[in-house]
Amino acid sequence: MTARVGPAVARAAALLANARDVTLLAHVNPDADSLGSALALGIALRRRGAAVRVSFATPERMPETLVPLDVLGLVVAPDQVPAAPELLVACDAADPSRLGSLADRLGTADASIMIDHHATNPGFGDVQVLDPTAEATVVLVHDVLAAMGVPLDAAVARCLYAGLVTDTSGFRRAGASAHRLAAELVTAGVDPEALVRPLMDTHPYTWLAALGRILQSAVLEQGAARGLGLVHARVPLEDTTRFRTEEVDGLVDILRTAAEAEVAAVLKQVGNQRWITSLRSDGRVDVAAAAGLLGGGGHRAAAGFTADGTADEVLASLREALAAVPPQALAS
Ligand code: MN
Repeated sequence: MTARVGPAVARAAALLANARDVTLLAHVNPDADSLGSALALGIALRRRGAAVRVSFATPERMPETLVPLDVLGLVVAPDQVPAAPELLVACDAADPSRLGSLADRLGTADASIMIDHHATNPGFGDVQVLDPTAEATVVLVHDVLAAMGVPLDAAVARCLYAGLVTDTSGFRRAGASAHRLAAELVTAGVDPEALVRPLMDTHPYTWLAALGRILQSAVLEQGAARGLGLVHARVPLEDTTRFRTEEVDGLVDILRTAAEAEVAAVLKQVGNQRWITSLRSDGRVDVAAAAGLLGGGGHRAAAGFTADGTADEVLASLREALAAVPPQALAS
């Protein structure tokens, strides 16, 4: 934990330690870091006797692979979230809008805590546990739990590990303290192989054929991103509706392995004229800055944005944004 975020962690811990009713929110299309954060806190608080619910605005159902994390059945539909929560906690949401239709609860809650690690987060909520140097939001949740004096049990540890291993691409972007945290979580009962295989390494057989087709259509633009290179592929609506986010969202991490491109982009069609684009960078291009120019956000090496239009129009605006972002020195 950095010194800057320490006082906020203490304030969050004090609020949560005395709370009797807590509503925890993940961002829309929740991932393992967002839901893992909410569920880790939720499980710990429920075990202390608090009334707890976890929710997210969309989609209707929880990602299939994250269901096993919800051992106490804390996830409820958004219409079950109180109109004026006593204590609201937003987990891994880079901006209030990432809470979707539940963002209004920030205004109606008696008190709110934001826990996040996105560099583009403008800051919101009464208590702001915001640390862009944290590899994952679960790292900050672990700090809050430690400040509350909550001992880790296996169920809480699994939620934290799920967020940590996915947000760091299998610990490739994890520092020493995150590796120490992983060791602590394994000691608390996490079985890494059993937890990670369904999360990151398991897809339906039919996905392999779709993956081959999508990768075959990938395009390398050597001159894009100021000559650093862009490789992009698109996932048509037919595939985004047929396959789980577990399949579709992993694509960009395959695409990014193209040596000739600094930036990888996957355009996922989610409506007739609507695309969610995932961006990855090898380090010299700040894709969060590029995504920010297009109404999105994220991290320097992993970001995204949503745009309306044809795929060619989205690509044209992406090329422009990448050309506008100055390249940076490679992080050592
Ligand atoms: Mn995260």
